[in-house]
Amino acid sequence: MNICDSDAVSLSLLTFGADKVNALVDADVAVLNTCSVRAQAEHKAYSWLGRAEELKAVKKDLKIIVIGCMAQRLGDKITKRFKSVDLVIGAKDIEEAAKKIIELQNKNSKAQKTDARSGKPDADISDFSLKLSTPSANPVRYLTIMRGCDNYCSYCVVPFVRGNEISLNCEDILKQCEIYAENGTKEIKFLGQNVNSYNYGGINFAALLEKASEIEKISRIRFMTNHPKDLSQDLIDAIASLPKVCNHIHLPMQSASDKILQSMNRKYTYSHYRLLVEQLRKKIPDINITTDIITGFPQETQEDFQATLRAVKDIRFGGAYIFRYSPRPNTAAAAMSDDVPIEEKKRRLQILLDETNKISAEIAASAVGRRRLVLAEKCEDGVLETRTKDNRKVFVKGSPQDIGKEIDVLIAQAKINSLFGEICK
Ligand code: SF4
Repeated sequence: MNICDSDAVSLSLLTFGADKVNALVDADVAVLNTCSVRAQAEHKAYSWLGRAEELKAVKKDLKIIVIGCMAQRLGDKITKRFKSVDLVIGAKDIEEAAKKIIELQNKNSKAQKTDARSGKPDADISDFSLKLSTPSANPVRYLTIMRGCDNYCSYCVVPFVRGNEISLNCEDILKQCEIYAENGTKEIKFLGQNVNSYNYGGINFAALLEKASEIEKISRIRFMTNHPKDLSQDLIDAIASLPKVCNHIHLPMQSASDKILQSMNRKYTYSHYRLLVEQLRKKIPDINITTDIITGFPQETQEDFQATLRAVKDIRFGGAYIFRYSPRPNTAAAAMSDDVPIEEKKRRLQILLDETNKISAEIAASAVGRRRLVLAEKCEDGVLETRTKDNRKVFVKGSPQDIGKEIDVLIAQAKINSLFGEICK
């Protein structure tokens, strides 16, 4: 979602007449889009701001702008700590970001800070990403279809920084898909904190997928992310029956202990999650299921952890993002006793990583010797970065002319997170 927001702001700035540079040192205006999901992301932002501040000491006209979730959460604190920051624009105001940046640059004025936390009422959030037609060809485009989240998982800061859940206008989404398609996009990725609860005027997510599938020049549709409590049979049927919808689903499990799931306020049990996996695999036998897991959540015992480890071995995810729990300010979990020692959190994390890597490597190895249809996304030094429909990266020799084409490849070699192949003649 942050990539999508950054692209949207960047594209707006280009439309307003800005040029993009590749290095901070060459910039007149430096925009930092921030994430608050984990403390580590915020630390990274602080160290980037430190570097930008050093640069501004010698390049006095440089404007430093902070946008996104961290700007929303910590607006005043950022400007107090980094006096050289010129503008802070929170996630709720991000659709105004490009306009405000250009205004600031045009005025060439002194620091002008917006109150990041004032935010407009959620109902006023406009579909800024949808207003952006794309002048440049790009075979894969992200498209935000929802903003905010109402779920309040006890560890998560997103509802506080991105506001309430809003489904964007279905017609506008489809119109933007068509514009992208006309400009050479082959694959659309629908984004939302929980696309499974998309509903605009009675059109649910399965119906949106069906409508998007009718756009002729779009050959692939992906989406993320999903919430197990809202993954409906309707949606499973849509993934199974619509050929353009890719056979990959990211379905965050977080834990396989019902006690921990309850404490996380996830509103499903492990047996419900397991049943969804079974239904998905029954209807879409070649589906790649990936997940998120948190280790060392408050009061996670050895028994709770072992339940998660057993689930990982049993389900055999195609990939997993595994994080060590760290409390986030204002969340319900931050008030719980963070009682799993850090060394133990790390130990559990490593065990899960080892297991998921082993399984991912086995799954990747099983692709060797098979033909796969891939979409060429990028090309660097004569090597194409391509992707299968089930979301596996495949590197093959090729040329920039191949970008945007669907190509048949024979898989010759496998690593945990990527495959290597040759174009079938
Ligand atoms: S569903 Fe839960 S984890 Fe995902 S964004 Fe919403 S609150 Fe956060």
